Amino acid sequence: MMRLILSQDPPRRAQGAWSRALLALGMALPFVACSEVSGVSDAPLVVVTTGQIHDAAEALMEGVTVELKLLCGPGVDPHSYGASTRDVLAMDQAALIVFNGFHLEAQLSELLEREAIAAKSWSMASAFPAGRCLGWSEEGVETDSFDPHIWNDLEGWSSCVEALSSELVALFPGSASQIEANAAAYSRELLEVDAWASQRLEQIPEARRILVSGHDAFSYFARNYGLETLAILGVGNDPEADLRTMRSVADRVVEMRVPVLFLESITNPRLTQALLEACEARGWEVRIADEPLYSDDLGVEAPADTFLGAFRANVEVISTALGTP
Ligand SMILES: [Zn+2]
Repeated sequence: MMRLILSQDPPRRAQGAWSRALLALGMALPFVACSEVSGVSDAPLVVVTTGQIHDAAEALMEGVTVELKLLCGPGVDPHSYGASTRDVLAMDQAALIVFNGFHLEAQLSELLEREAIAAKSWSMASAFPAGRCLGWSEEGVETDSFDPHIWNDLEGWSSCVEALSSELVALFPGSASQIEANAAAYSRELLEVDAWASQRLEQIPEARRILVSGHDAFSYFARNYGLETLAILGVGNDPEADLRTMRSVADRVVEMRVPVLFLESITNPRLTQALLEACEARGWEVRIADEPLYSDDLGVEAPADTFLGAFRANVEVISTALGTP
C-alpha cells in the first residue's frame, strides 16, 4: 500500500516561541501540587496519563493534599507516548496510577501490565457505561477494542469521574466527604456543559453538520450532537496516512460539499493542507478553520488549559466554522 509520509513537524499550536517556552516550563516542572506549591513533599503521588484525567483528579482533590504527575501534557499525543525513565520511577513510587484505557496509551500498555504497576493502576474506561461505547475500526475493519476518546462523551465521562472519586476515597478515606462533594460539583459541571454544547451545535444547518479532522477523535462528540465525522488518520492516530484514504476522504469532502476542515492540536497540519489541496484539485474550494481543535490534549493557556475550557473552545470553533455561511 502506498503511504503518504510527512515530516514530523510539531502541531501548529505548539510552533510559537511562547508556547515552546511554556511547554518547556511544563516539562521542567512535571509535579503539580494540588493543594501544595512544593514539588517535593510527603504527600501521596498519583500519576495520570492525560490532561483530561489530570483535570478531573485536580478538581476532585481540591482541598486535599496530593501530588499529581501528568505524563502527556499539551501537544503530546497519548497514542504514541512512551514512558521516560523518570516516568517509570514515578510510577514505581505512585500510590495510584490512573490511565484512560481502551488502548489509548498504546505504547504504555506493556508497562501498565507489569505486576507491581498493574496492582495500583485503574482506567477511566473501566467505568465507562458499556451501552455508550463505540467500536474502533481501522480502514473499515473492526478491532477488538472500543474507541478510546471517551472524554468527548460528557455524560459517559461523568460516570468515569464518579468512579474515579471512589478510587480516590479508598486512597484518602479521611477526605471522603470532601472528595465526594468535589465529584458531585464536577459532574454537575460536565452535564451543564453537555446541555450547553447541545444547544450551541443544534444551530448548525443540516447540510453543514460534518466534522473533518486529522484523526478520528470525535466520534462520541459527533454521535451526541448529531454530526458526522470524517478523518484522514484513524482512531489510533497512525502518523502515516495512506494515499487511498486521503483520496477517499477528499472524494467525500467534495461530494458532500464540506465547507471547512479542522486542524488538531496533536496532528500534523500538513496532512490537512494536503487534503485541502486534494479537494482543490477536484475543483472544490474548502477552507481550514482558524483555530485547531483540542483532540487528545488540553491547551497551554486559560481557559483551554482545563478540560471543560478546551471542550467549550472546541464547541465554539466548530459551531462558528460550520454555522457561519
Ligand atoms: Zn486520539
